[in-house]
Amino acid sequence: MTEDSTLYRTLGPIYISSIQPLLDNENLHQKYKIKTIISVTKSDIPLTYTKEPYVHLQVSVDDLPTEIILPFIPKVNQLILKTIYKSLSKDVLDRSLIEENEVQKPSLSGDAVLIHCQSGVSRSVTFACAYLMNRHNLSLTHALHAIRRNNPNHTFQPNEGFMEQLEIYKESGWCVDVSKLRKISPRWRAYRMEHIITSMIHSGTTADDGKDNNFSTIENSTEKDANWFGFKCAKCRSLLASSEVYIPHSPPFEKDDKQMYFIKNAFRSKRVVNVQRGHNECTLIFTEPLLWMRNKLVNEDSSNAIDADMRNEDNEALEGRLDCYKCGAKVGGWNWKGGRCSCGKWMVPAINLLKSKVIQTDRNNKMILPNDDRAV
Ligand SMILES: [Zn+2]
Ligand SMILES: [Zn+2]
Repeated sequence: MTEDSTLYRTLGPIYISSIQPLLDNENLHQKYKIKTIISVTKSDIPLTYTKEPYVHLQVSVDDLPTEIILPFIPKVNQLILKTIYKSLSKDVLDRSLIEENEVQKPSLSGDAVLIHCQSGVSRSVTFACAYLMNRHNLSLTHALHAIRRNNPNHTFQPNEGFMEQLEIYKESGWCVDVSKLRKISPRWRAYRMEHIITSMIHSGTTADDGKDNNFSTIENSTEKDANWFGFKCAKCRSLLASSEVYIPHSPPFEKDDKQMYFIKNAFRSKRVVNVQRGHNECTLIFTEPLLWMRNKLVNEDSSNAIDADMRNEDNEALEGRLDCYKCGAKVGGWNWKGGRCSCGKWMVPAINLLKSKVIQTDRNNKMILPNDDRAV
């Protein structure tokens, strides 16, 4: 298949393209003054472009929402800066973000950068956006708009997983450390949950120890930050979940949001027999999959048999209940296909504790009462 062979200019001397200009053996150096080529693909590119006069960087990722791209961003950004500016001080390179009012504005070198992927639509655009956002302190919307405005006839559309990662990148103050993000960003946890964990657990090919990496442990260490909170079993006070694995949700509030209503249809028909408004209060607390739930969630223990239609082709259960690992009391439930809080909000997947079966405590082990600001 032949891809679009155009080079699209973004802001400054940075171009985006498909792989086609390289397959066409274009003299990019002569025609566009391109010095640096960043290939965001797992495919090999023609050797010509990997040596003098070019500088080449390969970023091996697929165009999938489950691919984690954040850790690649700093290297790409630094290479772009180094290429397009003359002698940048180490200080500027380290922080990447060049202030607009910088006393000594770096001058342009005259060299250009090409970021390409397979079609020039998702992966290359993602890295161009990451650079523009960081360099000019732009939102993702503004960075995308800048690229689209200059090239109205081409589609620039990072996949939804990349979009979410770029939003998190800005929101977290340019954090690319995924282990740190897990601690500081509920939005990262929600992304990871929706895109990565679910696909890992559903792909039967994953080795068991690979699966374990996707189950979080809850740490009850003494060094908790001030905002830490935990959820303990109401019966035996074992720690079941904490703020580090908690996935917040907001009740649906748009008037026409169907999630706001519980609609009951007549048996096997679309005829509505009852409509009830969602409650204002939430009865469920959603979390990441935790190690203590592992046996239930990957369902090696198929003895707790439930309905056949609640199983997938591999005969694995898709939903079930969660019992306290210590005392065995029922504390919640799970459903890979999704579940609904009393407020009406759909969560996919839904791994939840029942608010009525747990107590929320702060880092000093003090109970957080429902009227407290910190209560969830
Ligand atoms: Zn809710
Ligand atoms: Zn218990």
